[in-house]
Amino acid sequence: MKECLLCSAPLKLVKFKCAEGHVCKVCYEKVSLNFTQTIKTNTKEELLARLENEPTDAFEISRKVNQLILFDDNQQQLCLPNHKKYTKENLKPEFYPFSSILDCQVVEEQVEKIVKKKKQTLGTIKVVITFAGKQPVTRDIWLIPNLIDNTSMAYKTMRSLAESIIKEIDQSRNAAA
Ligand SMILES: [Zn+2]
Repeated sequence: MKECLLCSAPLKLVKFKCAEGHVCKVCYEKVSLNFTQTIKTNTKEELLARLENEPTDAFEISRKVNQLILFDDNQQQLCLPNHKKYTKENLKPEFYPFSSILDCQVVEEQVEKIVKKKKQTLGTIKVVITFAGKQPVTRDIWLIPNLIDNTSMAYKTMRSLAESIIKEIDQSRNAAA
């Protein structure tokens, strides 16, 4: 019988494919962060790293803003899935207690540019969160990483997502206070 790539349990009917084999349901729940991430293209090494990074109790999503940030209100923890698309760097999913949130703000860069003889304002948007620790940790969630027209629909949509993240984080900080 086939075995789970991660815990070597015999695989039953329900199994999940990753790049190097199959994973049992128990492991899948952990490495997919409660079914929020796919594992199809992940290697055994990457999945084991996710398992190590896993909080002691399973993370349960009470609130979230898309797949940008997840909150567990019971355990008062948040998860940054750290999808590469939004981090500009290669980070594993990370977990932080609500009580460690020091600061959180939307940072917009604005640049004026002449495009087709018309003055346009281009911008980028990121949410910067600072967590307490031995050394404070700063994480960026890039919503608009490359300059685009700040009157465009995409920009406005991401601007309001950024506001949602701030609102949800504030709610978490109040809950921890
Ligand atoms: Zn397993």
